[in-house]
Amino acid sequence: MQINRVAVVGAGTMGSSIAVAFIAKGIPVLLKDIDQAQVDKGLANIDRLLKSRVDKGMPKKEADAQRALVEATTEYSRFSEVDFVIEAVAENIDIKKKVFESLDEYCNVDAIFGSNTSSLSITQIGSFTRRADKVVGMHFFNPAHLMKLVEVIPGLETSPETVQTAIALGQSLGKLAVRVEECASFLVNRLLGRYMNEALWCLLEGVADIETIDKAACDFAMPIGPLALRDMNGADIGLAVAKFNFQEYGERFAPCPVLEAMVEKQMLGQKTMGGFYAYDKETRKRAGANPAMAEILNTVRNGSHKSKDGKAIEFKAERLFLPMINEAFLCLQERICAPEDLDPALCAGLGMRTGPLAMATQMGLDNCLQQIEAHFEAYGERFRPAPLLKRYVWGKRTTIS
Ligand code: NAD
Repeated sequence: MQINRVAVVGAGTMGSSIAVAFIAKGIPVLLKDIDQAQVDKGLANIDRLLKSRVDKGMPKKEADAQRALVEATTEYSRFSEVDFVIEAVAENIDIKKKVFESLDEYCNVDAIFGSNTSSLSITQIGSFTRRADKVVGMHFFNPAHLMKLVEVIPGLETSPETVQTAIALGQSLGKLAVRVEECASFLVNRLLGRYMNEALWCLLEGVADIETIDKAACDFAMPIGPLALRDMNGADIGLAVAKFNFQEYGERFAPCPVLEAMVEKQMLGQKTMGGFYAYDKETRKRAGANPAMAEILNTVRNGSHKSKDGKAIEFKAERLFLPMINEAFLCLQERICAPEDLDPALCAGLGMRTGPLAMATQMGLDNCLQQIEAHFEAYGERFRPAPLLKRYVWGKRTTIS
């Protein structure tokens, strides 16, 4: 299906940068928000993003031509003209319900709806319309005009044609568009959650300090350490996501109590100018580990964090990635994505230099399993080995397919 014109509903952080991704490829965008003030905020963000492109060398004329492709509105009346809608309104099922009911009413019967939800069910969102076959998850990463991944998530009723069109649209934006089956947090954030949480357990346990953990992660595979990333995204957002994953997946995702203690003290990261790191008030840049974290850690440390036999395993970067690798095998087992898509999705979505499956094969699958088993002995459920990994080792496989 040819997509000539799209609409983006919600002109916030994601909606405005998704609009920039479309206009950069010459696709006209109808951008909707609830009132003029919100629309203006979205347009100001688009202007800012385009200006930064001009500052980096894009001709002003080209930026103006792209800007002219955005039409802003507070109404649904023109939605009959669009082929594809991306919904990027607040992460609230009641708000999404109202939006999808309106889209269903105003859009052409052939129009496809993609939701940028991070955690809500695509199947449930589809059920708010009379076209569940034409509703699909299109999960962009922040900032959407720069990040190279879009996860395409079919709901139970989504048709193969809709998935195909969504993947083609993602690709036409120059992105890696990966089909991911519906599961809590989808693929990339599900794996990211395991790694982020493990970093907190390491800190709580005292096996490594803030800067050592972040440096180990960066040296191993990441563009930014897990604690610096948590400060960027906010401890409050991190806690909500951790609780959601715990509710959906159970014990292995049990949120480390450090996060809750930080939220109680309003040490949210960059937005409160204090989290794992301290921040310079003028430059807003990182200024070393935050001394206030010592009190948080002392308050939370009560012995329950200790390894089962009381002896923690010496900290190595692998400790952060073993839960992610194990979760990757659980995803393969559940057929959440094709094996060949998993590492490219993680690399495009998180900027990893090596994906979790490549890490596992580089370690040697048998060695990887042994390490996971040793951590399972010491730390319990977070490291229960994925059955599929065990089968790979029993079957003497050395590659993953
Ligand atoms: P945001 O709060 O920055 O923007 C949401 C926008 O939706 C606001 O401008 C709001 O006025 C508007 N809105 C609310 N109700 C509306 C309605 N009925 N009609 C039109 N507009 C409406 O939120 P965000 O961070 O851009 O997130 C939007 C969606 O993207 C959420 O589902 C979120 O889970 C998802 N998401 C966010 C990120 C991220 O890093 N922020 C990443 C991936 C996905």
